[in-house]
Amino acid sequence: MLTAENPLRLTVISGKGGTGKTTVSAQLAYRISRVKRVVLADCDVDAPNLHVILKHRVLEERDFVGMKKAKINPEKCSSCGLCYELCRFDAIVEGENYSVDETSCEGCALCYHACPEKAVEMVEGVRGKIFVSETEIGKFVHAILFPGEENSGKLVMEVKELAKVEAKKCGAAAIVVDGAPGVGCPVIASLANTDLSVVVTEPTLSGYSDMRRVIDLTDHFRIKSVIIINKYDLNVEVSNKIENYCRDRGIEIVGKIPFDESLPEQIAQLSFPFKGLAAEEIEASWERILAFISG
Ligand code: SF4
Ligand code: SF4
Repeated sequence: MLTAENPLRLTVISGKGGTGKTTVSAQLAYRISRVKRVVLADCDVDAPNLHVILKHRVLEERDFVGMKKAKINPEKCSSCGLCYELCRFDAIVEGENYSVDETSCEGCALCYHACPEKAVEMVEGVRGKIFVSETEIGKFVHAILFPGEENSGKLVMEVKELAKVEAKKCGAAAIVVDGAPGVGCPVIASLANTDLSVVVTEPTLSGYSDMRRVIDLTDHFRIKSVIIINKYDLNVEVSNKIENYCRDRGIEIVGKIPFDESLPEQIAQLSFPFKGLAAEEIEASWERILAFISG
């Protein structure tokens, strides 16, 4: 069922950051790499950290060209101030020579259309970097968005596209995507063309609420989801609540990771692949994911 002709696309998400999503992504990819070729993609481009866990060597680096932003040509500008009055994002800097604060510009092009002197241009710029790296478990595609830059949904799509190309090149049977947190545009982009989403949650009331929001999102896009409860034994009452909720909605729990105090230390010491109770349960959840997609 895992074939290079039709690689399984798995996206690991969570309603918010800090639930162990990246650890689960890395360990699942490690488990898969023991039997098949795998490509990992870090689509948490606003706060990437998979590259910290994985020892990697960058093979290729390319520019991410983001949305167009306004630029004022001082030769043409008559300093009438109209763009300053119109810009709702306070991106025009007033003065003898008007200019654009790139980090505030949202690229709406209102100033471009309004300028009586045709002094505003909308220009593309390099807004981030995309990398293809080699790791001990397979190819790894990751990216950074420069500080203050937005439009991470577009960057996520480019990372995923490149991961697909790399998977084809190396004959990978699976692509594991560490998705963006939350329920906004970047996570929606992370979920595009996914076969299965693996939702990592934790037994807190906010974790429970975030999980429900993210399940609603995957349902909306008709993407099947399975759940992993991280540190489930830290609050068994809320874990039971999560399980009951999932049972009622017909959603399978594929992993219940116990709290393992050795894991934070392993992460801090960058000793990947991880060992111990938590790592073993993540690996066991892969067997249940396989059974789920086969079933
Ligand atoms: S609207 Fe045009 S001419 Fe007027 S300040 Fe802005 S850029 Fe200059
Ligand atoms: S493009 Fe829009 S956001 Fe950017 S400076 Fe012009 S009016 Fe402001």
